[in-house]
Formats: sequence, structure tokens, C-alpha cells
Amino acid sequence: MGACAAPEPNDAWPAVGGSLDEDEHSLDWAATDWGGLLHRRPRAVLRPNATSDIARLASFCRERGLTLRPRGQGHSLQGRAQAHDGVVVDMRATAAIGEIHSDRVEVEAGALWSDVLAATLPHGLAPPVFTDYIELTVGGTLSVGGIGGATHRHGMQTDNVLAMQVMTHDGETRPCSPERNAALFDAVRAGYGRHGTILRATLRLTEAFEHTRVHTVRYQDRSVFLQDQRMLVASGAFDHVQGHVLPDEDGWSFFLVAAQYGTSASSSPGPLLDSLRSDNREVDDLPHGEFLHRLRPQEQFLRATGAWHRAHPWLDLFLPDSAADGFLDEVMDGLRPDDLGEGGLVLLYPFPTRVVRTPALMLPREPTTYLVSLLRTAPADGAAIQHMLDENARLRSIALERGATLYL
Ligand SMILES: Cc1cc2nc3c(=O)[nH]c(=O)nc-3n(C[C@H](O)[C@H](O)[C@H](O)COP(=O)(O)OP(=O)(O)OC[C@H]3O[C@@H](n4cnc5c(N)ncnc54)[C@H](O)[C@@H]3O)c2cc1C
Repeated sequence: MGACAAPEPNDAWPAVGGSLDEDEHSLDWAATDWGGLLHRRPRAVLRPNATSDIARLASFCRERGLTLRPRGQGHSLQGRAQAHDGVVVDMRATAAIGEIHSDRVEVEAGALWSDVLAATLPHGLAPPVFTDYIELTVGGTLSVGGIGGATHRHGMQTDNVLAMQVMTHDGETRPCSPERNAALFDAVRAGYGRHGTILRATLRLTEAFEHTRVHTVRYQDRSVFLQDQRMLVASGAFDHVQGHVLPDEDGWSFFLVAAQYGTSASSSPGPLLDSLRSDNREVDDLPHGEFLHRLRPQEQFLRATGAWHRAHPWLDLFLPDSAADGFLDEVMDGLRPDDLGEGGLVLLYPFPTRVVRTPALMLPREPTTYLVSLLRTAPADGAAIQHMLDENARLRSIALERGATLYL
């Protein structure tokens, strides 16, 4: 939100409900994020009881030129949820989930997507798009985009929000939707909190099925992998299509993951799967909730090893389809497992550009866009972090020359 100029002494915080915490633990917490490369401490952390607490503090901060920054889970990069010498609002304190309707649910912005799923799934309903990891706040992903395996069908999470209540910089709460205050609606979605704080969001719900059939196909040839992936996305036959690259004993393997919701063996698109040019494949039938929580074991493992808490020099890009093969060559040539670090991987999958209708999200100007994410975990060694950052800078500039845009 507003820029920080020489702030007043903070001996006169206004009376607000909830808590306004200035202890070392709270300030350190608010100066930490998933990226782990920037640490900017605020003066205080607000844990509001009600949105009126945020409004009161917003006015106070605006008058003194203090930055007020909403923070969800802090799972973003580059200090985006930090407020140097300002105030961080812990949005997790407001996380209520409203009544569930057949096509929508209104939630407070600090609710986690996993909470939304837990509340809606028993009704046979769920939001149409989930990110891979769902312990993120609704406000946090609506502020960046929110891409997942269902994006090729339904767009980003920002394309599936029906309305929001937003507190703008003047401390006023304004409703917005495509019909009402549409400019605000468009500015706030994927707006990184720059145009106001999302207080509540009305999320679209669609039918959720009990089971998910997951096909995982493994490739050694990256060009065949990309061609098969494009073919599956174009077919529209699967609810979820993704791809990723992992190190293995032979070098690198390319995994195509295609899932169908609520299907049985008899309804699976056999001929399409038969046409894929790799026989190295597995099929799993999972309860739908387990499928959406599929990163949980990985999270537990990385927490146990400590890698979860290290720095994550990620590079996230949207690449035009025509550049995907060549850019993947640039990424893979000379890439060593250590360059990605513990639990690291390259995420790579296409979606039709037209399905994304969020104006603030800049995408390449081609009918098909690729998400390319180098998800790196830094070792404790500072020199190796610098190597990862240098590689990111090199690849970023190659990608931008080829028409890519930046994500996250
Ligand atoms: C393990 C992991 C997996 C991920 N997988 C995916 C994925 O599959 N797809 C994907 O798209 N992303 C993914 N991400 C990235 C993630 O979606 C973004 O970083 C997201 O912003 C994090 O949500 P958060 O609740 O932690 O938000 P924070 O990091 O707390 O905040 C992010 C930004 O949003 C702003 N913000 C937060 N709450 C509000 C609010 N209520 N109103 C206005 N602005 C607000 C903050 O000020 C900040 O600028 C992943 C991240 C991690 C760590």
C-alpha cells in the first residue's frame, strides 16, 4: 500500500481490536517469506479481530506515510508481503467461511484454500482451480493469480472470483465485481495488494467428485514430452494437466500428469492415452481431497530435513508456446540436480492464453502459454545461492527476449 516516508514515533498507536504486536518474534516473522532473500522488519504486526481494526490502522498509517501491508501465509518471494518500518496485517486472523451455496461461497481473505476445500467438499462442491500447494490464503493467491492443473480449462483463481470486498487506501471498504466497481475488481486481482486489501471474496464453486484418476507418464525425450502435453491440453479431455522435470539415475525425467475427476476405468479416454508416446506410466485412484493435498507428504519431508525453511530462489515465467522447446533446452543444458537443490524441480505446462481473463496478469501474445517455474531450494552455502540467482538472471533475460512475461 502507501510508500513509507520518515515515520512518526510509534508511541501513539490508535486503539484497535485484536492485537498490535511489537515483540521480536512477531517482527521477525513478518520479515520472513518463502523466498528467504529479503528481510524487512515492520514496526508492528496487526492481528485484527475485525475489518474495522484494519480500517482504523490504515487511516493512521496513511496520515504518517507508513506502509501497511496485508500478509497471508508469507509464501511469496522478494519481500512482497513485508513492510519496511511499517505495519504488516496478519490476514490469517480473519478466516471465516460463509454459508455454502450451490455455486458460490463467501470467505474472509485469510482463509486457506485447504479450509475452503474442507468446508465445501462435504457438499460435493469445490472451487474449480487449486494451486499445487493449498495451504495458501485466498487473499494471497488472488493477489498474484493462482495457477494450477485446472487452469487450461478454467483460467486462474483470479478468473474464478465472483466478487470481493476491498479496503482501499482511504480506509473505505468497497464492494467490487465485474458489474460493480469493475475497475477496482480488475486492479485488485493479481494486484499484489497495491490497490487495497481484499477483506472478503466470493468464490465460484463447481461440482466436486469423490475420486480422481491420475495418470503419470514418464518421458526421457523432452520434445516428445512437450508434444504429448500440448496434445492432451488441446484435447480438453482431462480436468487437470501438468508437467514437471525431476532428476533421476539416468539424468532427468519429464513427467506428464493428467487427471480426471470422478471417473471410473470404463470412462477413461483410452485412445487418447494410448496415443501417448511413452509406455512408462502409472495410474492411481485417489480420493479427491487427497489428490488436492498431494504435496502434503513432500511438505512434511522438507520440514523434517529443514529445507522447507531455507531460501527459495524461484524463477517463474509465462512463456509463449513457440519459445517453449528452445527455452527448455536452455534450462536443461548443463543443469545439475544441485542447481535446483533439495526437493527442487522444474514445473512446465501449457494452457490456452484465452482462458485467463485477469487484466493485471501480463501474458505472452500467443494462443498457448507455458508456465515455466524453476523451483529451487538454496543450500545453506551462500556462494551456491549466488550461483542460483545468477542462473535465474541469465534465464530470465533469455526468456524475456523470447517474449516471456514474469510471474510471482
Ligand atoms: C510450496 C508453494 C507452492 C506454490 N504453488 C503455487 C501454484 O501451484 N500456483 C501458483 O499460482 N502459485 C503457487 N505458489 C505461490 C503462491 O500462490 C503465492 O506466493 C501466493 O501469493 C502465496 O499466498 P500467501 O497466502 O502466502 O500470500 P502472501 O505471501 O502472504 O502475500 C502475497 C502477496 O499478496 C498480498 N496479499 C496477501 N493477502 C492479501 C489480501 N488479503 N489483500 C490484498 N493483498 C494481499 C501481499 O501483500 C503480497 O503482496 C506456491 C508457493 C509455495 C510456497
